[in-house]
Amino acid sequence: MLKIYGCAGCGRLQVVSKRRTVQCPACCLPMEAVPLTFLQYTDMTAEERTRYGLGWAAARLAKCRSLR
Ligand SMILES: [Zn+2]
Repeated sequence: MLKIYGCAGCGRLQVVSKRRTVQCPACCLPMEAVPLTFLQYTDMTAEERTRYGLGWAAARLAKCRSLR
């Protein structure tokens, strides 16, 4: 099953075919699964993916800061 992973550092999204440790190719941070299905992902334009990735990364970092 294909899953979508995101990088909290730069907001990059990546399609991952198997569950394993995924590293961001841009900044080498570990990527996490995002709440997006592969179908939803394929329905999005490149611009929508970028916006979603950045929004997810910002929310991810905000959550991290609130736990500190
Ligand atoms: Zn990254």
